[in-house]
This record gives sequence, C-alpha cells and structure tokens, in this order.
Amino acid sequence: MNNKLVQCSLFLLSMLSLPACAALNIFATVPEWGALAREIGGDQVRVYNATTAFQDPHRIEAKPSLLAQARQANLVLAVGADLEVGWLPLVLRDSGNATIQPGRPGYFEAAAFVSRLEVPGVIDRGHGDVHAAGNPHIHLDPRNVLKVGEALSARMAELDAANAAVYQAGFKVFAGKWQAALSRWEKESAPLRGVSVLVHHASFVYLNHWLGMKEVGSLEPKPGVEPSSGHLTALLARQQTTPARLVLRTAYQQDGPSLWMAGKAGIPAVLLPYTVGGTPEAKDLFGLFDDTLQRLLKALR
Ligand SMILES: [Zn+2]
Repeated sequence: MNNKLVQCSLFLLSMLSLPACAALNIFATVPEWGALAREIGGDQVRVYNATTAFQDPHRIEAKPSLLAQARQANLVLAVGADLEVGWLPLVLRDSGNATIQPGRPGYFEAAAFVSRLEVPGVIDRGHGDVHAAGNPHIHLDPRNVLKVGEALSARMAELDAANAAVYQAGFKVFAGKWQAALSRWEKESAPLRGVSVLVHHASFVYLNHWLGMKEVGSLEPKPGVEPSSGHLTALLARQQTTPARLVLRTAYQQDGPSLWMAGKAGIPAVLLPYTVGGTPEAKDLFGLFDDTLQRLLKALR
C-alpha cells in the first residue's frame, strides 16, 4: 500500500495534469465504450468520454478540449466503421500523439471485432451519410459488447503489461455478470419478437436484429438526412399496408418527427437511452439494456 502510494505520488508529480493515479489514460469517443473500459479496468484506468448521450456521435466539433485529452491518452477507444469519420481523424492528427494513431496498439476500433450488419454491396454516396463499412451502431446487440470486451481487455493488457492480470480478471467478472443478464434480457424480451417498428435513424439495427423486431421504415429519408414532410407523409401512408407499432428515437435526436408520426399513426413514440447516460436509469451498460427493454415493453402494453 505504502509502496503504491509513493508510486502514485511520484507519478502525480510527473503528470500534474492527471487528476488520478491511473495506469491507462483512455479517450473513448462514445459513452458505451468508455463504460466498458471502466468495467474492465476499474481504478487502473482514467476514462474520458468525448461525447455524451445527448450528442450525435457522427458529428461533433473537434474542440481544443478534445485535442488536449487526446494528447495525453494512451488508448483511443473508437467505434470505427466510419462513425467518427467527420471528426476523429482531425483530433488524432492535431493531437500530435504518435501512440494513438490508427494502426498503433493505442488505437482500438470496436466495430472491427463484430460482424457488421448492412454492409452495402455497392457504395453510392448518393445514398446519404454513408455507413459504407456497414452499420456502426454495434453496441445495442449485447452479444457484441462481450466480443468487444474480450478484445479490449487483451489490448489493455498489452498496453499496460504490469496490470495485465487486473484487466483479465476485470473482464472475467464482467463477462460472468453480462452472461447472466443476457439470459434474463432474452427471456424478458420475448413479447418484442416480431414487433414492427419505425426508427428515426438507423441507430437500432443491432437492437432490432437481437430482439427479432422488424424495422419497417426510417424517419430519415437517407441516413443522416433530416426527416422531410414529404418523406414522413409517404411513411404514414405505408402504415396502411405495413403498420409499425412503435416509433423509436435516441436521446440525441429531435423528438418532432417521432411525435408527429406517433400522433398521426396513433402509435407510441419511444425514447430509448441508446447509450449510457441517455436516461436516468441507463447509469451503466447493464442499466442501458434494462431500461431499453423496460421502455419497449411498457410502450407495447
Ligand atoms: Zn448512424
């Protein structure tokens, strides 16, 4: 203990900008992967989240505060699959931090460790905001969280070999709890199977895939393009032939289009947390899925 205190003090003296004595300094682009790093690393990691649940992770401003955080990071934890293509390359470049550049062990892309849905056969930029590498919103299938966690714990152990056992043990404990929660979620979610839904953006593709829900339309005419009244009217007309029972949106999306559709079609508009912090109940990754299922089930009642 004393030895550790001395080490920490020396470390703090040499790195006055760090608020805590953490072995790994992690820059996470989104809250869900920041939360996973914390589950694995506990006190050994300091996690900075570049976005909150109330920001669209596709497009944020590469502010100086982000650069300052990236400059002192040992590990950048990104979604990948082009989700952050509008801002992360700039932050990485201007950080001047060689250890976190793509291709280096200090750069980790979660999407590389799961099989991605909606990978287009032909890339046509005319189809909107892209998702050319497949849909990047991978975390809402909880089985993906486990795959990413396994790869992430190995990467953390590689970068901070002195604490490798801590990260391995941290992941093992997390994975045990996650498996138990997964069985519970799969039982609880049985009534959701086969339910048709509309979504604001393609944010819920993995959630729908996991739960067996059917996405019958998106309020955005193309991914990343704001809903237009013409498109919404056409979607509403489709309720006659392929009726949706719910309209889903995230905490960071405008509620106007969802509420319009819900009012006209007579179906519930459902706000889902989407990521950690998106609702008061989604305090961590477990809360994220607990609350997502509770909100969906409640809306169907
Ligand atoms: Zn997207």
